[in-house]
Amino acid sequence: MLADIEKLLQLQVADQEIRKLQEEIAELPKRIGVIEQKLAGTKAQLEKARAAAKADEANKKKYESTIQDLQGKISKYRDQSLDVKTNEQYKALLHEIQFAEQEIRINEDRILEVMVNVEAREKAVKAAETELKAETARIEKEKEDARRVTAEDQAKLAEWNGKRDGLRQGIDGDLLRHYERVMKFRGSGLAEVRDQKCMGCQVMLRPQTYNVVRNGEQIVFCDSCQRVLYFNPENEPKPEQVVEPVHARRRARPKADAPQAWFYRPDYGEAGEVLLVFTNENGTASRCIYDMHSGRQLGDVLNREGNYRQAFPEDLTETAVRLNGHWEEEEMQEWGSEMPSSILDALHSDLRAAQREHGKVHKDVSTGATEQSAAS
Ligand SMILES: [Zn+2]
Repeated sequence: MLADIEKLLQLQVADQEIRKLQEEIAELPKRIGVIEQKLAGTKAQLEKARAAAKADEANKKKYESTIQDLQGKISKYRDQSLDVKTNEQYKALLHEIQFAEQEIRINEDRILEVMVNVEAREKAVKAAETELKAETARIEKEKEDARRVTAEDQAKLAEWNGKRDGLRQGIDGDLLRHYERVMKFRGSGLAEVRDQKCMGCQVMLRPQTYNVVRNGEQIVFCDSCQRVLYFNPENEPKPEQVVEPVHARRRARPKADAPQAWFYRPDYGEAGEVLLVFTNENGTASRCIYDMHSGRQLGDVLNREGNYRQAFPEDLTETAVRLNGHWEEEEMQEWGSEMPSSILDALHSDLRAAQREHGKVHKDVSTGATEQSAAS
């Protein structure tokens, strides 16, 4: 891995820590704001409960004094009734007295209603007072915590800023500017490449780009997200670790007389690693070539007289590995100029199985030879 990439990886860790700390520091006053708002709400509720209790008290007094007034009126009417001359006058006074008595009953009912309410009001005031006390204690603790965390965060931030400044100094200026621009907008300036994909934006890399990144001798940016790409061989699935499907563990032997035959060639001229597919049909053989890594078709389909073994002997060299695989012609036409990755994966996986089998045979032979020589 390039030294600048290694430094950028450390810088990215520092940058992300710094961002996290800054966000945490900015978040704390907001959290306190939310609690304080709730506290203000509880205070307002308590005030309301107290004001309602006060209003009840005032109403009760008002009703009581109304009753006193009415009682005064009644005794006055009674006194007057002693002096009346006519029956009409007496009836009128009696009516007034009855009316006042009715009013007294109404006010007595109102007082009773207030008295019933008082109990509920007292409960509400007490609850609001308890709530306020608890919340006040809690906010004091939260504030204290926030102050402590902020102080800790700020110390950490200063430490990371120091580290960051040191790391930046060792990195090429243009590369650093590029990294920082992408970091600012995307939250990360570097992306690992795995399975030929940029893990930052999940876009597939072109085979050439992938190889350059893998070789680790040159700085490469992702075409689609602009992140600086790097390859970590430790994260590449090793052939032994790849879990093969159960049916693939014992590799089926490709049939010699199959109408369709797939081969792998590691050394196909300029194209390098390729996959070849031959088809025999009505005395004619056809050949199609695909790039081993991208699955793209290379050149046109070629047709020749006879079966493929007779027609294309130059392709079937010692390095050619026969692979399992058969797809209907219609399906293959749907692929167009690039085979689907699932097909490519199946062929890759069969090739690994073939190579493992091949390796095992060699090992068995050599072990046998060692035993023989030890015995003789
Ligand atoms: Zn990308």
